Amino acid sequence: MRFAEKVRNALCRLMYGRNGVDQLNLCLIWLMIALNLAGAFTGGAAGAIVSVAGTAVTVWILFRVFSRNLPRRRGENAVFVSRVWYPVSSFVRRMTTRLHDREHRYFTCPDCRTVCRVPRGKGRIVITCPKCRREIRAKS
Ligand SMILES: [Zn+2]
Repeated sequence: MRFAEKVRNALCRLMYGRNGVDQLNLCLIWLMIALNLAGAFTGGAAGAIVSVAGTAVTVWILFRVFSRNLPRRRGENAVFVSRVWYPVSSFVRRMTTRLHDREHRYFTCPDCRTVCRVPRGKGRIVITCPKCRREIRAKS
């Protein structure tokens, strides 16, 4: 057995039955990186406080990764995913789609917040909201 396989098997045995990395841990890792960088570039007592906060987040990450209390960790992650991860990721996906869509313009209805997609380059147009029938005058 090669050395790399032995290391891989040892890691698999170590992580068996443990939580590992989930969405909450990924965000905590980014928070830890941000806090440690901010602590490194901030001097004095404020920098020390930020560095201690970064260390606390690191301990929290390690606790969650190696935790064997899977129902509790999965419950925490489910709350995080439903309240933070999903809204943020769907917003980013929507904005990325709009940014890369060069053939359409997007307008939001001021009454019902429905997003209306119209072809780009048609001049001044009147958009009728498909949900509430309000007319929006805009330039495509
Ligand atoms: Zn509407």
